[in-house]
Amino acid sequence: MSTQYKFLKQCSSQQMEILPETAMPSSDNQYIKQYIKSLGGCIDNILLDKYSYKITDLVKKTILGNVFNDPVAKQYIPQIKELKILPEERIDPIGDDTYMPVNGVVHRYPDRVLLKLSNICAVYCRYCFRREMIGTGSGVLSVKDLTVAIDYIRNHPEIWEVILSGGDPLILSVRYLEDVFDQLSDIRHVQVLRIHTRVPIAAPEKITKELCDLFAQKKPLYIVLHVNHSQEITPDVEAAIEKLQAAGCILLSQSVLLKGVNDASHVLETLFRRLVVLGVKPYYIHHLDLAPGTSHFRVSIKDGQAIMRRLLGRISGLCQPQYMLDIPGGAGKVPINPYYIEELEDESFVVESYNGDKYTYPSMKDML
Ligand code: SF4
Repeated sequence: MSTQYKFLKQCSSQQMEILPETAMPSSDNQYIKQYIKSLGGCIDNILLDKYSYKITDLVKKTILGNVFNDPVAKQYIPQIKELKILPEERIDPIGDDTYMPVNGVVHRYPDRVLLKLSNICAVYCRYCFRREMIGTGSGVLSVKDLTVAIDYIRNHPEIWEVILSGGDPLILSVRYLEDVFDQLSDIRHVQVLRIHTRVPIAAPEKITKELCDLFAQKKPLYIVLHVNHSQEITPDVEAAIEKLQAAGCILLSQSVLLKGVNDASHVLETLFRRLVVLGVKPYYIHHLDLAPGTSHFRVSIKDGQAIMRRLLGRISGLCQPQYMLDIPGGAGKVPINPYYIEELEDESFVVESYNGDKYTYPSMKDML
């Protein structure tokens, strides 16, 4: 029995009401298997049962080649390489479970929490850091668990920001999201709401007027779009971005540095320029987490820094995201951008310009 089929059978009728039509059993579906095969993907039943597979019609249309050379296909189509699990790879690579005081809440940093409302997505990315949990289990946070999660946030006045994550929160019904927004609005210390989503990229038709009307009531509302390649930005995606902006949302982007997808400075340059022209600020580019079976996507930190170095000076600061590493195990995110400054023994500095020239900057003690 496929993972998704098991998942659907476990859902209560109440949860089914808010599940999207796209959460259908797929690995049993011959058509989907044929499709995966046609793109050169792996239709190994073990792989399909282990990790959820889902792709939208819109994403399919953006695939221009087979899985071996198309930057979109590689993100979604199963490959046999996923069966190779390295000893360093972990089921919970960023240690969410360690920082989960109640079901659905990850409280890792003092002033903010992740509120994981669901573990379903519009599409399933083959490199997902939560791939072991995504598309499985009960699907949506139960009413009881949501109440406990909101109570936790209410009882912790240091929480200034709530980040709706998942799974993808925008896969949920507007009614469910409205209920969450209403409950969070009553908590005075929660001043900022942020949503991490791939829906505007993979299923832009879900950015409806009803959803935008809800968003228009909530200020400030930051939405972070997950996008890895400019090929993903279709006219439908642009229209969804415009609708979110018209509703007053502040849009940022996050990408994952992926071998064979976007590990070249010219590819990232095109993506980041396109986003900035659309009014979306590139926020983070993530170093790939140590999720099981993802080593074929992994770029070394050294190569990642070299790519970031090539972007500096070449594209506007507006187009430059931070290069981030989530420390394996849960110690949090840190920027791992290349260094441009080195302190000398006399407390002066050597600073490197974008084109590699070196300059000195005097010590503060010489300037007092
Ligand atoms: S959309 Fe995000 S949470 Fe969902 S599978 Fe992709 S990376 Fe994972």
